[in-house]
Amino acid sequence: MQVAQIIVDVPTRQTNNPYSYLIPESLEKQIQSGMRVQVPFGRRRVTGFVIGLSDKTSFDGKLKKISSLVDLSPVITPELLKLSEWMADKTFSFKISCLQTMLPGGMRTKFKKKLLATDQIRDTYPAIFHGQNEIDYDRQKFNNKTIAEILALRKSNQIKVHYELSSHAKPILSRAYKSKLNQQQIDHVLIDVQKRAVGQRRLLKMLYEQPSQTFLQSKLLHEGVGKQVLDTAVKQGWVTETQVRRIRNPFLQPVSKSYPLDLNEDQQTAVNRINNAIGKQTDTTFLLEGVTGSGKTEVYLQAMAHALSIGKTALMLVPEITLTPQIVGRIRSRFGDQVAMLHSAMSSGERYDEWQRINSGQAKVVVGVRSAIFAPLENIGLIIMDEEHDSSYKQSDTPRYQTRDVAKWRAAYNHCPVVLGSATPSLESRARAMKGVYQLIMLPHRFNNHALPHVSIVDMKDEMAHNRHILSKRLSNLITDRLEKHEQIILLLNRRGYSSFIMCRDCGYVPQCPNCDISLTMHKDTHTLNCHLCGHKEPIPTVCPKCHSKRIRHYGIGSQQLEEQVKDLFPTARVLRMDVDTTRKKGSHEAIINKFGAHKADILLGTQMIAKGLDFPEVTLVGVLNADSALQFPDFRSSERTFQLLTQVSGRSGRADKQGEVVIQTFNPDHYAIQLAKTQDYEKFYHTEMRIRHLGKYPPYYFTIKITGSSPSEKQTAYEMHQIAGFLRRYLTNKAIVLGPTPKTITRVNNRYFYQIIIKYRQEPKLKAALDDVLVKSQTKQQGGLLISIDNEPLDFM
Ligand SMILES: [Zn+2]
Ligand SMILES: [Zn+2]
Repeated sequence: MQVAQIIVDVPTRQTNNPYSYLIPESLEKQIQSGMRVQVPFGRRRVTGFVIGLSDKTSFDGKLKKISSLVDLSPVITPELLKLSEWMADKTFSFKISCLQTMLPGGMRTKFKKKLLATDQIRDTYPAIFHGQNEIDYDRQKFNNKTIAEILALRKSNQIKVHYELSSHAKPILSRAYKSKLNQQQIDHVLIDVQKRAVGQRRLLKMLYEQPSQTFLQSKLLHEGVGKQVLDTAVKQGWVTETQVRRIRNPFLQPVSKSYPLDLNEDQQTAVNRINNAIGKQTDTTFLLEGVTGSGKTEVYLQAMAHALSIGKTALMLVPEITLTPQIVGRIRSRFGDQVAMLHSAMSSGERYDEWQRINSGQAKVVVGVRSAIFAPLENIGLIIMDEEHDSSYKQSDTPRYQTRDVAKWRAAYNHCPVVLGSATPSLESRARAMKGVYQLIMLPHRFNNHALPHVSIVDMKDEMAHNRHILSKRLSNLITDRLEKHEQIILLLNRRGYSSFIMCRDCGYVPQCPNCDISLTMHKDTHTLNCHLCGHKEPIPTVCPKCHSKRIRHYGIGSQQLEEQVKDLFPTARVLRMDVDTTRKKGSHEAIINKFGAHKADILLGTQMIAKGLDFPEVTLVGVLNADSALQFPDFRSSERTFQLLTQVSGRSGRADKQGEVVIQTFNPDHYAIQLAKTQDYEKFYHTEMRIRHLGKYPPYYFTIKITGSSPSEKQTAYEMHQIAGFLRRYLTNKAIVLGPTPKTITRVNNRYFYQIIIKYRQEPKLKAALDDVLVKSQTKQQGGLLISIDNEPLDFM
């Protein structure tokens, strides 16, 4: 008999060691590594991933048997199985969560539990069964008393529990018909069919013309062949009825074919160097640093085309919010149906279908966001990460992986190059390029030599003296000018909602979220105060709940209010707003972009999602209304973020043949991140910021670890975190810096108290083992509500 090693999905006793199960004889030939199975685990039945097979001989003791197969073919490739091991180790997480992360959302299975009762039990417990013999067991629906009753019934075997697999994504099946007759037979049949039986004659004619074709019912109905006709045709034995899988099409619009553009000298050099590495099958990492508008995308496209031309596949990643129809359209117009897309805005069904196309080898080019790094592509010839500095490449939940690291792992496995592209590379990547770990390729000129936009800085402290409006005089004059010239404008305000908070003018009361340590944001469209952390909502008070004064005012302008003010100031302008609130509905993001792109609006305003990746040739003015929003965060990366955001949004202005203009409004006009964004001087920013990082012992000079602990009790959280810090200090050398534990900037979120420990180090051979130990020990404390997470190279220290 054969034995399978299985990583089980057990949230409370997660383990990175596989369990052994016997393979039932009936499944012996079917089971392969990378498939999911159902196995008994204690009293339950759980899902698991088969990660290896072996002979029984090496096992003594009694093994349980696999109950059933979840997948009919492997869903995890051998490469991804290996990757999951590396990832679990690197991110201090469990193999099972790495494996689950690799599958598209719709394929993560859940089990529905069903309770089965005899007639007698059904009638004795009407409150549980409501007259049914079979009910869904949903923990949320029952109170504790009922759950206890159910458990007792189960223990005494008076009811049974059945497990049913519920996968969110299922293939869509469509009814279809195929001819059973050859052309000669059809000729024969036609003689007997009456002239007025138009539908039947039409169907037979179609079958005659395309005898081997399978016709979808929807197509036949469209052609005027009705349901009755089809029933007759089946009965007469003219056709067979079958079902075919229909592929959901996530691409809304067809695109026309495009061809490679002529490259300038820098672009050509870049393409040559990348193609050379593809051909030689070396896992070189390139940092492609190009100013905004330098034509990086064309370099990507031509290198991808080269990988395809030698029979390889290509993977291209873009940040969450820049996977715009514009970029996808460009890639599809070059590579057609070979392109598969993976994106969180797609339905789980669409993602499932696209994943199937990749897994079956139909798709050769994958373009997608962070999670697409796990696309089951084989024979990869090139991996591209556009906007490599973007924060969406780091997953914020477990497993907390950095996509860049996974990309490099896959490149090494596939012997192919990685291209990291950016106008403002992360300091980590640029520092590696300086040390020769990465190869640096520069695109210092804008494509077709378009000039960089002219940037001016407005000091809002001066402005406030004579103008209380959010738009400075300079910016509003320029908006008037552009509207007259019929050119387009982008306004960035990185704060959603109507106002940041409301306050009583008499007693100073500011409404806070009852679950979190944060003030509530006013949303005018829904007439509510919202918590942006936990989602709590409450009505906007008309009198102060504390002193009953009616003088409640709102402070700080959000994107909703900006829209209102802009419409007031420029009543004839057509204004679009893009933020989380206006893009919640599927397709709305795309609709706004298309509308603005077709110049059906004059002003596009919104939060940082408008800053990246968009390319509108008619935009000649960009206004940044509060350049300080990112600087205010108490974090070592806030200058880098500010510089990146300002540079990127400035790059939106003047991308075609018109000179662009940018206005940056700020209360810190002398800050180096703002001054250097004005001249788009990445070099100087890099050197300035590196000096500061060096002095503060921050990355990329130091490695960092963030340990976060939370529980419903602040006392418990603080106590446990002190224990952990003490434990680590004993383990580490005196060169390591252990900061904390300290309460997080926002200590309470959703009624849990958060503390953190930061470790900065250069070489600590014992650190990994110590942290693994912390993680394993923390499992036993979970019952008491304590959750510990370890973030390797966190994005921030907040
Ligand atoms: Zn008051
Ligand atoms: Zn809250």
